[in-house]
Amino acid sequence: MSEASVFSRILAREIPAEIVAETDTLFAIRDIAPQAPVHLLVIPKSAEYRDVTELAATDPALLAEIVALASELAAQHADGDFRLVFNSGAGAGQTVFHVHAHVLAGGLSEQGLG
Ligand code: 5GP
Repeated sequence: MSEASVFSRILAREIPAEIVAETDTLFAIRDIAPQAPVHLLVIPKSAEYRDVTELAATDPALLAEIVALASELAAQHADGDFRLVFNSGAGAGQTVFHVHAHVLAGGLSEQGLG
């Protein structure tokens, strides 16, 4: 059996993190190394999908849930505008192979990120 991902260990409360939302299928945490004023990760509780391509092919409804939760969180933590990033593959910077969406928000254009 492969080792549990860092996100599965956070969900199991084995590693501390600020969990900002939780639904039946998803949870969201603050990124430990924020790249924007608001930087959250929306993560399926199930670790079965490595990346967004696998997720979209197998469970597009769950992908839509990720977008909806990202939108809610951007409204709660910033002004509602947000950028949604999925790194897919090591060559694109993916380091955790348990699919997750980066939700970046909060004055991105003033930060030169817009
Ligand atoms: P990736 O590079 O795979 O797209 O994104 C992984 C993200 O997870 C990175 O932005 C990284 O900062 C974040 N991360 C890695 N380990 C931890 C952790 O233990 N706690 C939290 N809160 N975030 C983490």
